Amino acid sequence: MTPTGLSTDVSTTARRRVLISGASISGPALAYWLHRAGCAVTVVEKASTPRDGGYPIDIRGTAIEVVRRMGILPRLRDAHIDSRRCTFLDADGSQVASVNAHAVAGSVEGQDLEVRRGDLAAILYEKVRDDVEFLFNDSIDTLDQSGQEADVTFHSGRRRTFDLVVGADGMHSHTRESLFGPEEQFHRYLGYCFAIFTMPNTFGLSHEVMMWNTPGKAAALYAVGDHDELHAFLTFHQPEPPFEALRNTDAQRDLVATVFAGAGWEVPGMVNAMRDADDLFFDTAGQIRMPHWSSGRVGLVGDAAYAPSFLTGQGSSLALAGAYMLADALAANRDHTAAFAAYERDVREFVAMNQALVDNGAATLFPTTARALEQRNTMLRGLVTMPSAPPRPAHSALTLPEFAPTP
Ligand SMILES: Cc1cc2nc3c(=O)[nH]c(=O)nc-3n(C[C@H](O)[C@H](O)[C@H](O)COP(=O)(O)OP(=O)(O)OC[C@H]3O[C@@H](n4cnc5c(N)ncnc54)[C@H](O)[C@@H]3O)c2cc1C
Repeated sequence: MTPTGLSTDVSTTARRRVLISGASISGPALAYWLHRAGCAVTVVEKASTPRDGGYPIDIRGTAIEVVRRMGILPRLRDAHIDSRRCTFLDADGSQVASVNAHAVAGSVEGQDLEVRRGDLAAILYEKVRDDVEFLFNDSIDTLDQSGQEADVTFHSGRRRTFDLVVGADGMHSHTRESLFGPEEQFHRYLGYCFAIFTMPNTFGLSHEVMMWNTPGKAAALYAVGDHDELHAFLTFHQPEPPFEALRNTDAQRDLVATVFAGAGWEVPGMVNAMRDADDLFFDTAGQIRMPHWSSGRVGLVGDAAYAPSFLTGQGSSLALAGAYMLADALAANRDHTAAFAAYERDVREFVAMNQALVDNGAATLFPTTARALEQRNTMLRGLVTMPSAPPRPAHSALTLPEFAPTP
């Protein structure tokens, strides 16, 4: 499909040099649109390749329009997982309810997409890799914007000068920390930690999710199609964020094993698989809330600026929509200060609505008390006959402008 939007006129102005830190979702999406706007784009990623792994993610509402305009909607439809059922289990593994997966995920059947996070990252990377410079195995060490440009020293020792720098380096963004200070002041901890990894599908599961719960703990097995691999997910309530474990993989494995010791169903096997997993992703459920998303010539996009947490299922959709809006603002405004201001003005309400989903009951899948768990189970039994949930207004609350030409 031919991407829509106006073509940009770059013949009369010097090409803006933009450095993006992070090659996951928001970074490559921003790179694509900035290239369309005539910028010379470099992406630096600390990993050696685009990182695979992670739980399946959702692309919904406004973000569907972004990927359609990028021309990757057909590929993403091919990668769509199409989960059909979600079966909830109690402490000993007995079935509580088995419901249409869309009814609990808040997705619109037939419209919204659910893809492996690694598949989305790979499709975005393939879309831009021939037009954009990628520097893998590297990261920004120092960033000096005291002059008219941004002078960057990389960890590898190379030095380069850019007109703009954008941090697309995730919830624990180094770019944000170097500009705005420690993460703690912007991090809203939501009381949960989670561990995600893959393990063999020895259960014969297909296109479905099995979720086991006790108060404050959940274990899920997520079968992506008929693959011989499952995505395993262990989440638990933890009143204070375990900052130490965030920095140490062994401590993460020990913490998860301790929390789930003695648990029923297939949890002991999952914990063993976690011990051996080479793709473990551990993090806290939290949000990033900042008063501003830029400082001087440096801006933030995606989780680095406004992570909504996995509890909303909107991280990738915000990253895609935010990348489009930032590129559009930069294409429309040669003055970066005006561009960053327009980006914030147009995107902030959309972000706020999506971050607020956690306060509107999105976390009810993981109750922390026996009473709340029973209430949730009663609610789930009521969903058994429901085909799909109504769309959430927050998912489509942002209307995308036609992509702006460079002034
Ligand atoms: C491997 C992985 C697995 C994930 N799994 C899940 C999941 O299961 N569930 C979920 O809800 N969310 C998950 N996420 C987060 C999810 O991708 C984001 O919420 C969302 O897609 C927003 O994307 P983003 O590109 O803004 O940030 P992220 O996806 O977090 O990407 C940030 C990128 O920046 C890179 N990076 C970090 N620091 C630096 C640095 N200093 N220099 C250069 N590069 C840097 C990272 O390696 C990563 O590629 C995962 C992210 C990753 C990287």
